[in-house]
Amino acid sequence: MAKKQELLERWSIGDSANVYGIKDWGAGYFDLSNRGEVVVRADFPAGPVEISLMDIISGINDRGMAMPVLLRIENLLDGQISRLNTSFRKAIKTLDYQGTYQGVFPIKVNQQAQVIEEVTRFGARFNHGLEAGSKAELIIALSMIQSTQSLVVCNGYKDEEFIELGLQAVKMGYKCFFVIETPAELPIILRRSKDLGIRPLIGIRLKLSSRAGGHWQDSGGDNSIFGLTTNQMVDVLDTLKAQDMLDCLQLLHYHLGSQIPNIRDIRAAVRETARFYADLVTEGAKMGYIDLGGGLAVDYDGSQTNFIHSKNYSLDEYTTDVIEVLVEIFNDKNIPHPTIITESGRATVAYSSILLFNVLDVNRYEPGTIPSALPENSPELLENLWYVKQNMTLKNVQECYNDAIYYREEIREQFKHGNISLRQRAFADNLFMDIIHRIAASLEKLKRIPPELEGLDEVLYDIYYGNFSVFQSLPDAWAIEQIFPLMPIHRLREQPSRRAILADITCDSDGKIDRFADLHDVRKALPLHDLKAEEEYYLGVFLVGAYQETLGDLHNLLGDTNVVSVRINENGSFDFVREIEGDAIWDVLSYVEYEPKSLVERFRAKAEQAVRDGKITVTDRRNILAAFEASIRGYTYYEK
Ligand SMILES: *Cc1c(COP(=O)(O)O)cnc(C)c1O
Repeated sequence: MAKKQELLERWSIGDSANVYGIKDWGAGYFDLSNRGEVVVRADFPAGPVEISLMDIISGINDRGMAMPVLLRIENLLDGQISRLNTSFRKAIKTLDYQGTYQGVFPIKVNQQAQVIEEVTRFGARFNHGLEAGSKAELIIALSMIQSTQSLVVCNGYKDEEFIELGLQAVKMGYKCFFVIETPAELPIILRRSKDLGIRPLIGIRLKLSSRAGGHWQDSGGDNSIFGLTTNQMVDVLDTLKAQDMLDCLQLLHYHLGSQIPNIRDIRAAVRETARFYADLVTEGAKMGYIDLGGGLAVDYDGSQTNFIHSKNYSLDEYTTDVIEVLVEIFNDKNIPHPTIITESGRATVAYSSILLFNVLDVNRYEPGTIPSALPENSPELLENLWYVKQNMTLKNVQECYNDAIYYREEIREQFKHGNISLRQRAFADNLFMDIIHRIAASLEKLKRIPPELEGLDEVLYDIYYGNFSVFQSLPDAWAIEQIFPLMPIHRLREQPSRRAILADITCDSDGKIDRFADLHDVRKALPLHDLKAEEEYYLGVFLVGAYQETLGDLHNLLGDTNVVSVRINENGSFDFVREIEGDAIWDVLSYVEYEPKSLVERFRAKAEQAVRDGKITVTDRRNILAAFEASIRGYTYYEK
């Protein structure tokens, strides 16, 4: 009987899966193994292959690479490009749409050479193209794209050089579209194309009146900074008509903003755009392409809701809804069905990158450290606080809480005036924490929790120090309070006994994560395991492939992390296809215009002076310089 009870109560990997929601946000790519480790899953015709992240970490360690590491799994990028294209094809077939789908990947979402190389390689079989928002990105697009059948869509502000490069690409056979974002661009396009004798492929960016909820809602709507108003569109039409160039106008584009959580907003925007498209055709423009921009969201918290970090639709619902609306409007007006373009960035790359780091230390209040009596000659305020603790019962927790707060404040005040010593204040702080812990522990026994005491348990959270920088690796977690799924990647057969927030190794008070994914709300603490003396504890931040890498900055001069790229093979093995060493201290110093060489020289001169002054020996000098040089060539993160 006892045994059975124990079995029933044992923590299972199913419990861990629930606690961390991995099946909700994992999109089928992430799961738990029977060993209690996070596995990444790649699909193959013969069935899925699962690889444990701990096995990958052990490969990383064997290669002498230090944490933190940004891990890229190329199969997941392949998987997402494949899912997107397959889903559109399926919806097109089911709903009898007469056009095709041809996506483009917006380079700005992850410009890293290796990522764009993979996007173009995996995208080739679908003629998946690239979207460029600047000259630099156009240069990437023209060089990296594998087939001229794939589209290159140029958005953003374009100068003469940009336009000339795009026109030459058209001459070479690229399908390179200029999307007009502001009226000023058209005259330059017309002039340069006449000079060069090349007929441009022109698109128009629409300023929709439809708006979407979410962080980027200002990208769409009447107030968006990009796109043409209806009057400006009419001007473009008239200009092109007058120059006998209506055949060059082939594309209509909008971008509602990124991470659109609500499918209703997506439908509304498609509907409005399709109406514009139909009238452009009626006006005599050649058309042929409708570009629905980005916005396809990622369900970061797994809640499947219209919360900003989630989405209330599946990929299949997205593609079906898009096609449904287009069919309805185009069939009604007898408009030939155009090629559909989307510029999905976030949804394409988010899954393929994981930030892995180790935990360096834990900061927590250890209960039971209060002596059994007050030190002699304690000031009255301390006696009062002591009295609060002695007299606490279930009935007066609220009162005790108020009193404890009051006395702690008074004690701190008296400390400032020099009436209370450091040791007395330390005793008081400890006593206060003890009281709060007792109150928090008693709350679960109360029928009704007094409103003031709700959230009290926040003071009880541990602080886990992670070997990473929020500013470098998860800038959106700081800048827009983006929620990323975060969890231990091993020990998941053990019940997590602590509740914690995470701090990074910058000494910035914003360098922390204290909002976590939850199905119903945002969680304020993450369940974690106690550290073991002889074992690293590894955490992973998931779905970080979109936007984070180049938005990250050098706060505290913590640089780029090491990057490891892994390919999972059909036979169950995996290869390290690429390792990119992160920044050394030498590198980050030069980014902020120091000359590392001259820093070494300056320090050497100082050491020499110290020898002359008799402060250190020549041997000391050698050791000191060796340590300095080892540091300057080392990793910017915590090394063991
Ligand atoms: C940023 C951007 C995108 C990408 O949006 P996602 O939501 O990441 O898919 C697409 N098109 C344009 C014009 C953009 O500015």
